[in-house]
Amino acid sequence: MFKKILIANRGEIACRVAATARRMGIQTVAVYSDADAGAKHVLACDEAVHVGGSAPKDSYLRWERILQAAKATGAEAVHPGYGFLSENEDFAKACAAAGLVFIGPPASAILAMGLKAESKRLMEAAGVPLVPGYHGANQDPALLQREADRIGYPALIKASAGGGGKGMRVVEKSEDFAAALASCQREAINSFGSDAVLIEKYVQRPRHIEIQVFGDTHGQCVYLFERDCSVQRRHQKVLEEAPAPGMTDALRAQMGAAAVAAAKAVNYVGAGTVEFIVEQAAYDQPESMKFFFMEMNTRLQVEHPVTEAITGLDLVEWQLRVANGEPLPLRQDQLRIQGHAIEARICAENPDNNFLPATGTLQVYRKPQASSFQLANMSGTSVAVRIDDGVRQGDTISPFYDSMVAKLIVHGDTREQALARLDTALAQTHIVGLNTNVQFLRHVVRSSAFANAQLDTALIQREAATLFKQETVGLPAAVAAVVAHTLHAEKSLQGTDPFSRRDGWQSHGLAQRRFEFLWQDQPLSARLNYLHDGAVSLSLEGEDAASGVLGFTADGAGLWVQWGSTPRLFSQLDWQGETAHLFTPQGATRITVLDPLAHAGEAAQEGGRLTAPMPGKVVSFAVKVGDRVLAGQPLAVMEAMKMEHTISAPKDGVVAELLYAPGDQVADGAELLKLAV
Ligand code: ADP
Ligand code: ADP
Ligand code: MG
Repeated sequence: MFKKILIANRGEIACRVAATARRMGIQTVAVYSDADAGAKHVLACDEAVHVGGSAPKDSYLRWERILQAAKATGAEAVHPGYGFLSENEDFAKACAAAGLVFIGPPASAILAMGLKAESKRLMEAAGVPLVPGYHGANQDPALLQREADRIGYPALIKASAGGGGKGMRVVEKSEDFAAALASCQREAINSFGSDAVLIEKYVQRPRHIEIQVFGDTHGQCVYLFERDCSVQRRHQKVLEEAPAPGMTDALRAQMGAAAVAAAKAVNYVGAGTVEFIVEQAAYDQPESMKFFFMEMNTRLQVEHPVTEAITGLDLVEWQLRVANGEPLPLRQDQLRIQGHAIEARICAENPDNNFLPATGTLQVYRKPQASSFQLANMSGTSVAVRIDDGVRQGDTISPFYDSMVAKLIVHGDTREQALARLDTALAQTHIVGLNTNVQFLRHVVRSSAFANAQLDTALIQREAATLFKQETVGLPAAVAAVVAHTLHAEKSLQGTDPFSRRDGWQSHGLAQRRFEFLWQDQPLSARLNYLHDGAVSLSLEGEDAASGVLGFTADGAGLWVQWGSTPRLFSQLDWQGETAHLFTPQGATRITVLDPLAHAGEAAQEGGRLTAPMPGKVVSFAVKVGDRVLAGQPLAVMEAMKMEHTISAPKDGVVAELLYAPGDQVADGAELLKLAV
């Protein structure tokens, strides 16, 4: 076995690879950028080499620097993780040329599967079922239009070199084809350096089911069953599970055989994933499922832990053994599925604002009781929850890399049990300092569509009404909790000296206190009355007016607050400035408590400033100077953290000035344009 490997990646996947290497007694070398000095992955390795600036092109993509680091530290092999250099055949070749083992497939297999159109031609020859479509080399627009008309609408145009959910356009009707093609080609050339496209039938309400395969250098290849990754936003995965609900043994065997055939067609070695799009007549008719090859990812996948949970295997260990020339540890007939596993990707983003990525510091990062990178038999131990992450409390989610904070993986004997564990684990995941999708994930997990496994890639859109802008705690409970918490904190400070009493009691009688809040940007106020018997009464003013005795008591679980009929548990309260983040078993919320004096002099200072919501690149402006715009009208498109975001006019006005040009990099909060209102 190797004595030392270099991990050419960062974040959770670098930590993940390091954990297995450590368990196997293999030394590890980390590489890091300026932004990652002192990052968790650096400390997870035995040695670390600085490879450059924060932008990936200045560090994690600089393969000559990475190879130098490997040589200088005496590493024998390089693990590329996922993303970055993992699917770069030139890098795989350069490793070999430098005498290093690339822990991944042969460069020829990466090349063969790298372009979607070419790989589909190979798969066709290998007898793997394909989505009806066109994947020819001829890119004449008139020919492409004729092919789309032949395939029928809706059709999907895909950048052949695309990935990460980018470079795709759904076309509803023939008349729209030419414009969609032009726009797809523009995005493709900008993002992937090639404007070659392919056309596919757009499968309605499909499922995304992929097969994990593994090959070795002795000509063996097996499949480690499937993962269902149908729950997606913007063609990117949100929840992944294994096995796929409703999967039959017969279909699993067919899909497994097709995936192995795909891998063998390119002499695959190591871990790979064959992605299929699955058409189904109805959720409860698994026998109607038809599967078609979409693409092969020639690397370890983000969602590999669900496969580890149901097989009890360590896929990184398999990767290392295969790269070391050993045969696969198990044969197909020795592989078994135990129980059910689900992974949730916790991302720094705001689901209620079109999944706008968020950056910031993890001021609070509290996790459920879990193991990290524990692989085998999750259900056999007391801990059935695993968290893979590359950050600690106090770390920053920067704009340079993608927005994933952590992966939460649960395992249970049944899907139902796994689901319940996921819900509880999400309730115990408390993040303060930046927006995350934790609450959104809870709504998905609790939706009847997901609970009943009515899975398809449109689930999130279909269930939008119950997933977005959901409030689980509510204004009255939030007000009661934050007031109770304040009183509880004051009580703890209170000494026996009568002059230090802070409960508002005055000898001349009843005392009152006012609280001013901001709840979902709306100001409101509440009054607290100290009653003669030491009790307090709370009255909320305005639309949600309510009044009554407020009771509270603390125990090991948190603060129980009663205002009205039933007591409610608040597990944690964290202050971020004046904003209280409240965590309950049912959900989380936040409320701002204003110090009336501090805000007295503040005037509404709105005006026509339009700023970048996060650091990123200006893609385009939809308006020019002098244009009259209406509130809500799109003004500019920005790209950050793998996604595009539209910036819209907050009010009616006239565009006075554009302060950047398309292609410019802008900082968080930078003024993009001036609107005269
Ligand atoms: P998986 O296919 O493993 O489920 P993703 O599709 O999200 O996961 O991609 C895995 C990783 O690869 C991501 O974290 C991302 O950083 C990187 N990646 C994939 N495609 C692209 C792309 N086109 N541009 C930038 N990064 C990408
Ligand atoms: P990427 O390289 O970006 O991962 P894929 O080809 O794997 O691209 O497709 C990403 C997602 O787009 C799929 O998981 C699926 O949700 C959707 N998709 C892809 N092809 C089709 C299709 N022919 N019909 C419907 N949806 C599709
Ligand atoms: Mg894909």
